[in-house]
Formats: sequence, C-alpha cells, structure tokens
Amino acid sequence: MKRKLKREFLNTVDMPLFVEIGEGPRKYIGDLIENLDLSSVYLITGRTSFELVASKIKERIEESLAGIYFVQGGGMEEVRRLIVDLGYRDVDCVMGVGGGKVLDVAKVFASEMNIPFISVPTVASHDGIASPIASFKEGGKPISVTAKPPAAVVADLVILRHSPIRLLRSGYGDLISNTVAVKDWILSREKTGEDYNEIAASMAVLPANLMLSAAEKLDLKQINHLTMLVRGLILSGVAISIVGSSRPASGSEHKFSHALDFLGFGRATHGEQVGIGSIIMEYLHEKHYGTGNWERMKISLEKIQAPTTAKEIGLKKEEVLQALMYAKKIRTKRYTILEDVNPSEEDFEVVLAKTGVA
Ligand SMILES: [Zn+2]
Repeated sequence: MKRKLKREFLNTVDMPLFVEIGEGPRKYIGDLIENLDLSSVYLITGRTSFELVASKIKERIEESLAGIYFVQGGGMEEVRRLIVDLGYRDVDCVMGVGGGKVLDVAKVFASEMNIPFISVPTVASHDGIASPIASFKEGGKPISVTAKPPAAVVADLVILRHSPIRLLRSGYGDLISNTVAVKDWILSREKTGEDYNEIAASMAVLPANLMLSAAEKLDLKQINHLTMLVRGLILSGVAISIVGSSRPASGSEHKFSHALDFLGFGRATHGEQVGIGSIIMEYLHEKHYGTGNWERMKISLEKIQAPTTAKEIGLKKEEVLQALMYAKKIRTKRYTILEDVNPSEEDFEVVLAKTGVA
C-alpha cells in the first residue's frame, strides 16, 4: 500500500523525512513527488546543473512542474526576488538541484514560503546539503541564514561521483572538522554549563572519526567511500537540525574560516579552510587539554591530497595570523578553545610553525 503523507505534516518536521543515498535515486524523484502528494513543484537549479542533471529530472516531474529558476549570484536578494515573483502562486514544494549556492537559495525560499524543500545535491563539498543553514554574502561579507531543514534529501552517488575531486576533498575537510567542533562544545559544557546533546554530538562526530580512520585507503570516487562521506555530511546536517544550531558542526575551526572570508582572504573552498583550521585548533586542544591530535588531522588531509598549509591555499603567514586574531572576535558567545585559551599572536605563530601550516 502506498503511504500518503500530508504536506501539513512535512511542514512541522525539523529533520529530513526522506533520505536516499544510492546509485540512481534521481530516477525515482517522480515517484517521490507523487507519494508526497505534491502537485506544484518549483525547480531551482544552476545552468551547469541543469544541463548535467536537472534537465532529466525536469522531464520526470513535468506534470507537476510549476516553473524553473536559474540561480545567478545567489544570496538573499535573489530569494527576495523569488518571493515577490511567486508569493501568490500555488507552489507547494521547492526542489533544489545543484551545488551550495543553488541549495541555499532554494532552502531559504522554501522556508520563507513555508513549503517543503527537496534537496538534490550535485556536489558533496559541505554539510549544507542537508542542514537548515544557508551561507550568503551581503555586501561582500559572509552571513548565515537559518531556514527549515529539507523535507527530503536525494543524494545520487552517480551524480556526486562525477563532481570535481577537489570538492569531494572539501567535503571531507568539512566533515572531519566536526571532531574539533564537538571538542569545543564539550569544553563549553564543562566551562560555561552550555547545553549539550549527546545524540547530535555523536551524529556529527562518529562519521567524522570513521573518515579519519579510513584516510589511509580512502578513494572518494569509490562508491563505498563516497557513501561514507555523503552519509556523514547528511548526518551533520541532521545533527544541526536536532539542536537548532550549527554547534555540532562548527567551532573554532569554522571561526577561522569565517574570519578569512570576513577579511577577504577566503580564496579556498569552505572545506579546505576549515580543514586547515582544524589542524590549528586540534593543536590547541592537544596542548592545553591533551584531547586533540593535530598530527592525525594533518596526515589524514595529506592522505586525501587536501591542502594542509597556508601556501597551498594562497595565503601568507601574516594573513593567517590576522585571521586567527580576528577569529577570536567572531561570535564570542559560542565558547571554543579560542575563548578558553585566548592565544596571543606570538602563541599563534608558534602553533603555525609547529604544525607546519605557515
Ligand atoms: Zn562547514
């Protein structure tokens, strides 16, 4: 018997109801739309994603397709334009097919319209594929916007396997950074009494540890390994949804990456920046509490051929130092090893030299 789920129900859930990871779930998107009783799907995609993937999906949902929009620069401005254009149309679902920029616009738009969002990622470069958080730029500065999590995530490994290897490596960096984020969270629980959720923490950290242990033999284009990566990124997104904050997947290492973006030094991908941030912050956790292992972090990134030095991501040592000092001023209420230790510029210089980052 077919299971009928009401859209009203979908609107109240705060984590994905349907998650499909496999070789080929894109072919069943038409069935998914039918099962969810959706009749007016608005497709949001990018030009390249459309040619490679979304054009075929469009054919499969032709009957219930309400319209199609191609994301340009991304950001709130585009979301606002969509709301103005479609606010009075009978759209009952938003499907995003594309990379981070596309999914972020689709996610926030769906949230503003209070209708379910179906995420169909074409890259696995960060945990945004299943998280309720969108990263936009306003006036050249990065901002985070909280939306509802996707109602469904369709992660087709055939599509993801064909994405650039650099982006898969970035996904690896974003995933393993969870181990630092959760260390920061535990530290805050001890020092400030912050709420801590064991389920969310485990969901964020266990797949990350699995990836760290597997680094030696990891081939991200191989289906089994790619599954591990994608599953881990989706679980991170769900962990964020459970606690309603990015806490399980974003700590001091993300502050470093945000600082690079704020200062205009962010020339690498998100995952590359948080990967290098993770080496630095693991060092601090190890030095001050014996809980980190920066070498393990660095070696694992080297094994998968992700950058581990400032030079590799086009940064000068001075820029890294400036970003680290700036990172201490970002979102100080989120207590991390940075607030705890409050390192000086000289302290950071030592860390960079010892870890070989710069
Ligand atoms: Zn991230």
